[in-house]
Amino acid sequence: MSLSIHNIVPILNARWFGTSGHTVIDNISIDSRSLQNNSGTLFFTIVGPNNDAHAYIPELIDNGVRNFVVTHIPENLEGKANFLVVENTLDALQQFAAYYRNLFDFPVIGITGSNGKTIVKEWLNFLLSPDYNIIRSPKSYNSQVGVPLSVISINEKHNLGIFEAGISTTNEMAKLEPIIRPTIGLLTNIGSAHDEGFSNLGEKIKEKLKLFPHVKTLIYNKNKTIDAFINQKVATFSWSCKDESADVFITKKSIIDKTVLKVRYHDFDFEIKIPFQDDASIENAIQCMMVLLHFGYDHKTIESRMELLFPVEMRLKVKNGINNTTLIDDSYSSDFQSLKIALDFLESQKHYKKKTLILSDIFQSGLGTDELYSKVSQLVISNKINRIIGIGETISAFKNKFGNAITFKNTANFIAAFDTLAFANETILIKGARTFEFEKIVSLLEEKTHETVLEINLNAISHNLNFFKSKLKPETKMMVMVKAFGYGNGGFEIAKLLEHHNTDYLGVAFADEGIALKNAGIKLPIMVLNPENTSFASIIQHNLEPEIYSIKGLNAFLQIAKQRKLQDFPIHIKIDTGMHRLGFEENNIEALISILKETKAVKVKSILSHMATSDDLVHKDFALSQIALFEKLSSKMMKELQIKPIRHILNTSGISNFPQAQYDMVRLGIGLYGVSNDPEEQKELENVGTLKSIISQIRTIPAGDSVGYGRRFIAEKPTKIATIPIGYADGISRGLGNGIGFVTINNQKAYITGSVCMDMIMVNVTDIPCKEGDQVIVFGESPTINFIAEQLHTIPYEIMTGISQRVKRVFYRE
Ligand SMILES: *Cc1c(COP(=O)(O)O)cnc(C)c1O
Repeated sequence: MSLSIHNIVPILNARWFGTSGHTVIDNISIDSRSLQNNSGTLFFTIVGPNNDAHAYIPELIDNGVRNFVVTHIPENLEGKANFLVVENTLDALQQFAAYYRNLFDFPVIGITGSNGKTIVKEWLNFLLSPDYNIIRSPKSYNSQVGVPLSVISINEKHNLGIFEAGISTTNEMAKLEPIIRPTIGLLTNIGSAHDEGFSNLGEKIKEKLKLFPHVKTLIYNKNKTIDAFINQKVATFSWSCKDESADVFITKKSIIDKTVLKVRYHDFDFEIKIPFQDDASIENAIQCMMVLLHFGYDHKTIESRMELLFPVEMRLKVKNGINNTTLIDDSYSSDFQSLKIALDFLESQKHYKKKTLILSDIFQSGLGTDELYSKVSQLVISNKINRIIGIGETISAFKNKFGNAITFKNTANFIAAFDTLAFANETILIKGARTFEFEKIVSLLEEKTHETVLEINLNAISHNLNFFKSKLKPETKMMVMVKAFGYGNGGFEIAKLLEHHNTDYLGVAFADEGIALKNAGIKLPIMVLNPENTSFASIIQHNLEPEIYSIKGLNAFLQIAKQRKLQDFPIHIKIDTGMHRLGFEENNIEALISILKETKAVKVKSILSHMATSDDLVHKDFALSQIALFEKLSSKMMKELQIKPIRHILNTSGISNFPQAQYDMVRLGIGLYGVSNDPEEQKELENVGTLKSIISQIRTIPAGDSVGYGRRFIAEKPTKIATIPIGYADGISRGLGNGIGFVTINNQKAYITGSVCMDMIMVNVTDIPCKEGDQVIVFGESPTINFIAEQLHTIPYEIMTGISQRVKRVFYRE
């Protein structure tokens, strides 16, 4: 990209207030936290429903960013940078991308549909890359923001584009079409995903087809419902497994581990094999084959390339590594765009300060290798990577571009030298193209534990956070409760993510939990709900903020505070308005006020109370009486002490049921982790934790035989039993035994048979096709934590926090 601010102003229809119009832009950003922002960055200041990026402009200017697209110039900043003022910054980003797209004239494949977009895109990239310099959307960047960012990465060397577009409601596609401007359209499976945004199937199809008004060819699975909506003027190239009138007719046959597709095209028959058997993969593979046919490939090439298709891993996974390392596993792709994304993710998840990058040769950048590795080296420098290990012939040849890089010609050489590299106390991003088989490196670095893991979906946490944010007034602050290891889901990783989302406060139960977070580098303020007097010294030392709930506690804290000559140390005053757990009662308030009047050692940062019945509207009157008492007592304190603290009383269900009592902050807990006691709200939340295991052994027992301790299950007929390595020591209650609970195996319910053992359960799989080693879902989408809690007559909190720490947590982002 070589556009200057002068060039860009008219493209955006912006008003320019600036310092230097000649500045040339080499990077577009919308993320204030990215370390890739520099003096050549044009920062689009996006205003979201919960977050207005204008607030980060001063910090960005301090970090060297000099060019901003804004809706207004924040106070006192005029003259400090180039400001391009527009009505709407997202529209401006899209306009810019559409303009940029128009500078290039090569075939572009535009993909949309409900399912399979990203897989089809990745496969097409694999199938076509021997013959083209391809630019494609990184990961699943297919949104109103993701599409423009993908397109802006096109450069002069590219000669084929593959972009995906995802929409969730009407009127969105019309905005993406001019940005992608596909010449070839590909409509993938129209399933029922994301249906909420559309009133019916027809509307959804119509909307998706708005990506294709200018295509020269539309490829799709022929079907009458869709046919009815296709514009007659668009040339189509259709396929079907049912309708022989389609341009390409396909019959399928499964053989061991593979599917044979018999393809009839122009009265000519040929066969290809693909290494999949599930319907979704077969359909996605056919879509890709259609593109190859359209591009005129002969059937021999199609056959040989399709046979090599592979499962696509789209997720960036965070894992615990050996010797106190954290691994970020992105061992399936290596292109410049996804490297940028992975480096941002590394920064947001780094557990250890030292950052290491293991990187293979990079393919298909569209750039010459010299220019490419110069750019990679700039990227590595701006991301402050401490050591870089390059693997591959090409990256080895450009070793000198990286200063202190170590390089190896191939993965085998790296593995041979593994012990000399002394990996310890660092965060390691492992990023390589498939052919380099970096999964071997991951398996060397990964901490070995047993097969049971609790997978935590970081995207779902972000989604749930935003869902609750959207219920708040823009000025209401948010404290998130991460006590008990983030309700069992992971303390540090979640705290780190919340820091990334600019959450205002974290809350923990005990000082130890806060100290662990501070030691791991969390900078957010942390309130400790139940500080014991013995922990006051370490609370002060680690800059934690105690909740003070009694005169005795206050005096004890003040004594230490005075010894240390503290001034204005932040404390939080808890008032008991009816929960009767911790807090000052109404008749203590006078005494509290007079002590606080006499001291400058502490400062009342906030006043809070906790509700006993926010989740149950049967007790609405009681809840309202708690809020009224809170109002009365906190106002009295504010008036008499002449202070303006942050006031807060609502937990998750309070946010939903008593929005009028938001005050200045709310305390979100269980909702963040994806659980609500309101069925309607539950539908809006995304599942966060999935507890997975595998089948260790399968046997079939005859009628009359028993299973497990105490012979509590006797088979009435021949019964197939699978043993799973998870038991009550992992947090699977014995109450789930004997048919009360189930696990999911190959999408079917397998009920727990006999008693739950310490480290194992047995389940009935008589009617379920499965084999040893198959995956088992203990909870997640099904059964849900809510279901398990109901079966056990308890609450989801207990199930979540009860999963033992010996179960390995794996964090991932889609
Ligand atoms: C745990 C806790 C919360 C969060 O409660 P949820 O019901 O999980 O939202 C809020 N405030 C206090 C004082 C808590 O102890």
